[in-house]
Amino acid sequence: MRNDVPVRLELLNWCVLVFSFGATGACLWASSHGPWWLRVAGAVAFAFVNFTPFALMHEAVHGVASPSPVRNALLGILASVMFPTSFCVQRMAHLGHHRRNRTDQDLYFSLWRGVRPAPPMGAPGNPAIFDSHAT
Ligand SMILES: [Zn+2]
Repeated sequence: MRNDVPVRLELLNWCVLVFSFGATGACLWASSHGPWWLRVAGAVAFAFVNFTPFALMHEAVHGVASPSPVRNALLGILASVMFPTSFCVQRMAHLGHHRRNRTDQDLYFSLWRGVRPAPPMGAPGNPAIFDSHAT
């Protein structure tokens, strides 16, 4: 299923992804080479810059990074390389978060409140069927 994301915005997403890969790579290099001040500066800059591919992964999770589902998934997979997660896991967890937002079954909200969260959608104990169109 295609969405109505303009191709020019998809192109912008790809450009931002490539730029963020370069920027985060430079930050990682700086934080592991050179004098202490360069390492600190690289680590601080990384903390700000690395949010960019996460934001793009979030767009892909919601299926709005590209009008093409295949390119949307590809962008999400590439963006998730910068994090200790996979695109599929992030999509399942995040869409479940939106579906159960601010309930005791929401993973993020429950952990914050100290409540044991429900199993992820589709896992044993939670027979909800994964809906890739949930928002
Ligand atoms: Zn979201």
